Amino acid sequence: MMIANLLLVGAIVAGTEQVPSGLTLSRCEELGLWEEVAERLARELVNDPDDAGTVLKLARAKMLCRQYRQSETLLAGLRTTTQGADLVARIHLMLAEARFRLDRSREAERDLAVVLNATQKGAHLSRLERERMKFLEATIQWRHHRSKYFEIFYPPDTPRTVDVPELAGRMDSIFETNSMLLGSHARTRIECFFFVNNEQGKSILGQDLGFAWCNERRIFQSFYQNLGHEQTHVISAYLSAAHRKHRPRNQAMNEGLCTLLSHAAYQRGLMLRCTHELFDKEQLPAMAELFAPGVKSPHAYRVGGAFVQFLTDTYGWDRFRQLWLTYNEQAAPFEAVYGKGINLLDAEFKGWLSRSRIPLANVTAP
Ligand SMILES: [Zn+2]
Repeated sequence: MMIANLLLVGAIVAGTEQVPSGLTLSRCEELGLWEEVAERLARELVNDPDDAGTVLKLARAKMLCRQYRQSETLLAGLRTTTQGADLVARIHLMLAEARFRLDRSREAERDLAVVLNATQKGAHLSRLERERMKFLEATIQWRHHRSKYFEIFYPPDTPRTVDVPELAGRMDSIFETNSMLLGSHARTRIECFFFVNNEQGKSILGQDLGFAWCNERRIFQSFYQNLGHEQTHVISAYLSAAHRKHRPRNQAMNEGLCTLLSHAAYQRGLMLRCTHELFDKEQLPAMAELFAPGVKSPHAYRVGGAFVQFLTDTYGWDRFRQLWLTYNEQAAPFEAVYGKGINLLDAEFKGWLSRSRIPLANVTAP
């Protein structure tokens, strides 16, 4: 469950988190503050309503705010006044993306045909745009289900045993629980592309499933992966972005949190079982190493998750939230938040492990 773009973070919805102003537009885009990006671009357009570049950027921001109809309206208005071949291809690609999300696949297909025609005649699209076109071509017949917090897209060959509305309800419930634990008040919808299996995902995306594009509030997974992990990457990134920050630059902080909040008993059972086994063999990594800035480790998910569980069980979620928000800025973040250094917390963690042993029989396959 690797994150595809570790440095990209999520966004907040304007009005749900109080944030200081004064960031440049590109910094807002980098943090994924799309509502703020859209507001600023809309103000720019008042002065120069025919600036096609600004309209395109605004249409993209609206799409990422999940305001698909507004995005389509902006793009459709542009089409009639624009002649350049590159721009026509770009506009129709975005129109196709918006109309696919508005459940108008036939129109989206016609837009894609315009894009293909334009590129065959020499119109230039960036590498990223060509990848988006390929992805849309592969998913344009997919089904769509909208829930409280999710725009769910799934393939036509989804087995009948998969009850998408029921699954969406569980995802919404996890979103609310995890947002509450983390103190993130974001109100938005995450796009979730569900695949029948890893092979299907790999054939379309070129990589294994189970990853989040937090900056674009989008996750990619199979129906059979747990419903909490990837969305928690997006939710926890909201929290950082709301405070104008990047999420902690440490893999165990991120993956440990998402493993703990996966809401999958099997995953959490494995997390504790594996950590106990390492503890018994005296092979546990030092937390000072695992949680050092920039560190990636095969222990990030399970041992990282067990340590985050120890921290939150012992000291509560408010402190962990403080740690999350200050981690990148402090030379000794654990000491700053918990009043004791990471080595002392590590010793407490070992004591907690020896007291919190779970019977192995309780860890059963899902
Ligand atoms: Zn992950």
